[in-house]
Amino acid sequence: MRRKIVAGNWKMNKTPAEAKVLAAEIANALGAAPCPVEVVVCPPYIDLPAVTETLAGTQIGVGAQNMHNEPKGAFTGEIAASMLQEIGVKYVILGHSERRTYFADTDATVNAKTKAALAAGFTPIVCVGETLEERESGKTETVVTTQIRGSLADLGADIAKVVVAYEPVWAIGTGKTATPAQAQEVHALIRKTLAEMAGEETAQSIRIQYGGSMKPENAAELMAQPDIDGGLIGGAALKADSFLAIVKAGC
Ligand code: PEP
Repeated sequence: MRRKIVAGNWKMNKTPAEAKVLAAEIANALGAAPCPVEVVVCPPYIDLPAVTETLAGTQIGVGAQNMHNEPKGAFTGEIAASMLQEIGVKYVILGHSERRTYFADTDATVNAKTKAALAAGFTPIVCVGETLEERESGKTETVVTTQIRGSLADLGADIAKVVVAYEPVWAIGTGKTATPAQAQEVHALIRKTLAEMAGEETAQSIRIQYGGSMKPENAAELMAQPDIDGGLIGGAALKADSFLAIVKAGC
């Protein structure tokens, strides 16, 4: 039985003071209505100390939105795993489509970062997904399986610790959600690919989140699909009530 996981990707939103308020609102509301879903928030780097401090002692985990694979050195503007560890970060989103599109993340760099994140004891949330053009030209299967095989290559038994996020690029921030059937089809394909890489038992244990305009109105139906184990939430994670409504849809 896979435990559902719902993570909020705050992207480049919220100052440290605003982040503290949002984290406290989520913690207060969730505390009153506990549910078995694993809940994670991923604020910008600069907000992480305030948010880990605010959420200390709660059931809500904190993640970063990226990290570098090297332990330290001359990488201006980058953040290493040890820096995140020290402030209590436990998760890291890797290979988000915005990172792949605007910051040149590739399957090879995502793979190196995933290895470094696992070595640091983090739960990596590794994102994959096709563009609209790729979907319309019948390339979804090739694109997604290539991303999975490349981003998760050579992890050995640690592959079981990864969370995969299937995020069709055409659904991110657009208001267009994949239908439950469209999403389930790709999630099943991802699980089949994971089984080919790591065996059926391991594949059955790996959580696969859906991301792309998930909101309170569609979350329950998406998360009811057999291979959808939670959500990675962008826009709807920026307000405590909509984020919590999605969490509750998975309870
Ligand atoms: C995301 O960026 O991970 C995401 C799913 O965004 P949104 O929910 O806004 O589509």
